[in-house]
Amino acid sequence: MQKNQKTQAFNGLNRQIVDNAPISIIVINKNGVITFANKYYKNISATKNPVGKNIFRMPFFIRENLSNRYKKLLAHGKAFKKDNCVSANSLEYINILAVPLKNTRGDITGALSMATDVTQIVSAKLELKKVNANLKKTVAERTRQLLETNEKLTKSLGLKSQFISDASHEIRTPLSIAKLNIELFRNQLCGENKQAISALNAIDVEIDRIADILSDITFFTAIDENPIEKMNIEKISVKGLISSVASRLKIMGNKRNIKIFLENNSADYAIKGDKIKLEKLLLNIMGNSIKYGKKNGWVKISLKSDAKRDIIKIIVSDNGIGIAKKDLSRVFDRFYRTHLSRRHGEGGFGLGLAVCKWIAEQHGGSISAESALGKGSVFTIKLPLLLKK
Ligand code: ADP
Repeated sequence: MQKNQKTQAFNGLNRQIVDNAPISIIVINKNGVITFANKYYKNISATKNPVGKNIFRMPFFIRENLSNRYKKLLAHGKAFKKDNCVSANSLEYINILAVPLKNTRGDITGALSMATDVTQIVSAKLELKKVNANLKKTVAERTRQLLETNEKLTKSLGLKSQFISDASHEIRTPLSIAKLNIELFRNQLCGENKQAISALNAIDVEIDRIADILSDITFFTAIDENPIEKMNIEKISVKGLISSVASRLKIMGNKRNIKIFLENNSADYAIKGDKIKLEKLLLNIMGNSIKYGKKNGWVKISLKSDAKRDIIKIIVSDNGIGIAKKDLSRVFDRFYRTHLSRRHGEGGFGLGLAVCKWIAEQHGGSISAESALGKGSVFTIKLPLLLKK
């Protein structure tokens, strides 16, 4: 093949490549006049015959503020990139990359300017922006709704607590009057009518039970409303606490001939805590041991320290009805009562142990139970130890 033919074939191939490339290509001379444009450029430009036109006078280059960049490129060879321009026919988004053209001596003779179609990417980004904006709006709306619901809920919880505390206050007054009347009546009977006296005593016990239930319900209403309940912390002797609770439970124990005793060699320990709350805890645990204890049985309290972990264990054991294995993990739940205790006719509302658990945990301690049905139960209260007396 002749040299001339070869050059012609080569130029033909170059032309094919440049025309079919999926990219817009123009060549500009030193003055900004287009000397070449491929087919792709013609598709995206509004100009039918671009060759011979000066870019500094073409609307697209002016609208996209490109003149200065091309001037710098043609004067100093400074290549540039500009993304997301809107094409001349306003149908596509294009990214432009322009580089200098230099001769063999390195002089700038013009520029090569290329543009790629990024419409899909830009549209996807715009769509994403729209989705994000909608999402933000939805989240804001949901947050507003949640806050509104929360406000309503807080209000109705407040009303519920107010109602419970008002109602229990209202109930307490007639209960106290009934108790006084029972006392009066009992005194008048002067031990003559044994049957009537025992009936009055039974009513008296039931009234105390209602009062206990009311006290547990109001306790939970208060802690639900204000979980960080104020604690009146003071230094307490554990032995002192136990003997005060034991003496309060003496009558209850005597009724069933249950002996309450502190293990002989128990040393005394000091803890820091809220005396009234800790008394309530021990009253519930030791009271349960009597309620669910065996007639003529016993309730034993032992104190053990775990010197290493600085913990005191108050262990309350009884030889009563015991708790079935399946119930053991649930007795600390609110309102949980075992089948046996319901049949036993004793007890209250199933709130006592939940109160105990809350009090122990508020003191940085814990409470657990072990039991064997028909043999008895062991409740262990662990509290942080202050110092051994
Ligand atoms: P209640 O008011 O019913 O006594 P508690 O929360 O104090 O509620 O106790 C929950 C349940 O755990 C009781 O109903 C009873 O079945 C069981 N229970 C608690 N202490 C003992 C115990 N010492 N012996 C046997 N069962 C017990």
